[in-house]
Amino acid sequence: MGKTIIISNRLPVQLQISNGKINAVPSVGGLATGMKSVHSGGESLWIGWSGLTDEETPHELDQNIDDALKEHGCAKVSLNAQEVEGFYFGFSNRTIWPLFHYFMEYSEFELDFWNTYKAVNQKFADAIIEKSNDDDTIWVHDYQLMLVPQMVREKRPKTSIGFFLHIPFPSYEIFRTLPWRREVLEGLLGSDLIGFHTYDYERHFLSSVRRILGLEVSFNDIFMDNRVIKVDSFPMGIDYRKFKNAALDHDKNQKSDLQERLDSHKASAPDTKLILSIDRLDYSKGIAKRINAFEYFLNKYPEYKEKVRLIILAVPSRSNVPQYQLLKREVDELVGRINGEISTVNWTPIWYFYRSLGFESLIDLYTTSDIAWLTPLRDGMNLVAKEYIATRTDKTGVLILSEMAGSAYEMNEALLINPNNFEQQADTLKRAINMPEEEQMARNTFLQNRLERYNVEVWANEFMKALKQKSSVVRNTF
Ligand code: UDP
Repeated sequence: MGKTIIISNRLPVQLQISNGKINAVPSVGGLATGMKSVHSGGESLWIGWSGLTDEETPHELDQNIDDALKEHGCAKVSLNAQEVEGFYFGFSNRTIWPLFHYFMEYSEFELDFWNTYKAVNQKFADAIIEKSNDDDTIWVHDYQLMLVPQMVREKRPKTSIGFFLHIPFPSYEIFRTLPWRREVLEGLLGSDLIGFHTYDYERHFLSSVRRILGLEVSFNDIFMDNRVIKVDSFPMGIDYRKFKNAALDHDKNQKSDLQERLDSHKASAPDTKLILSIDRLDYSKGIAKRINAFEYFLNKYPEYKEKVRLIILAVPSRSNVPQYQLLKREVDELVGRINGEISTVNWTPIWYFYRSLGFESLIDLYTTSDIAWLTPLRDGMNLVAKEYIATRTDKTGVLILSEMAGSAYEMNEALLINPNNFEQQADTLKRAINMPEEEQMARNTFLQNRLERYNVEVWANEFMKALKQKSSVVRNTF
């Protein structure tokens, strides 16, 4: 039995350097948590970029960094600033991210970006090849590393390789516009198993493989040379217990400053419903449209003025990419204009926070908000929707969710909306505000049971199980 090697752009630990000392702090993000059962003890290794460029890394500390990472079962791939620019901010986030989220007009087809992406993917592949054996199992994550499976396959034909895409895979009509469409597909097809969040993404991928590469596809198997590549959907869950328990403890623990302020707001305006939205400040999340839809709602149903408040938490993201800077300005202006136009002495319709909050504050917001309103124009999954439901321990609360989010496929009991349809959203907001508690509880019971059963650990284990089954079938066949 070999070891498991996980590869993602970023490692699941943050490096802190102070006074010449290195500290590696584990991250608490969804992927890191989900992989806990896979990334355990000495039988696994996680390879990725540390988050520090070569220029930011004091040369004399290089060995100490390696040692600190090793304690967490991690090994780093070193990248310089120019590589991070072309590979991460360039090809990953200015070419693939917009294209795969159907923002074709934002997608930049720059040869330099592509060349850097290839070179950096080769660096990751080389690190894997150096640190792995034939009997290891390799799990590559996400759109930054789509060429890695094939690059590893060339040197390790017998190794079992899985790939999971955490963002949507677009329809063939969109994907075909990418100048390097063949290379990307061939890169992915170095895998034995390719996983997506939803059946639709899987279908789009299979269609591109058939039409661009002309390969034979039967159900979810792709036939290539003497290999069969399996494609399947694995919707990613959350650490359900962590969110549920945090919400339960939240009522017992001493209140945070944020909670005190939310409580005093509720006490002063007991009839005012709090509507929450949380996203990275990303054009795929539909934040500007949501604010416009909120204004539309208040114009259509003015009786709700002073009776609702929209809390927008927008987390800074990729702020050196021009489209993100434009979006920031647009959202700032919209919030300013609407608050300026319709606020009253007692009421500000939108509370807007542009920052990242810690886990405890997120729990404060989730547990205090009557409604969560999430309107991505495209979203691979959307974990915030799942987290909101998990924290509703008394089963009240209404989730309004865009049908363009991957999570909508598993969350049918939410109020599903088309983010472009303002009429529908205004009516849905009204329905959510007036939804009887029994109905809220009935809907959330179904949602919570499903989230609890298909949590993030189950997601990781199901993927690994499918990958191992696939490998044993292949070994017995050829
Ligand atoms: N989140 C966070 N701090 C914040 C706001 C959000 O840690 O201030 C977390 C949130 O709990 C969730 C993740 O960021 O787990 C966002 O995941 P999602 O799938 O909704 O969107 P993504 O940012 O991955 O596109």
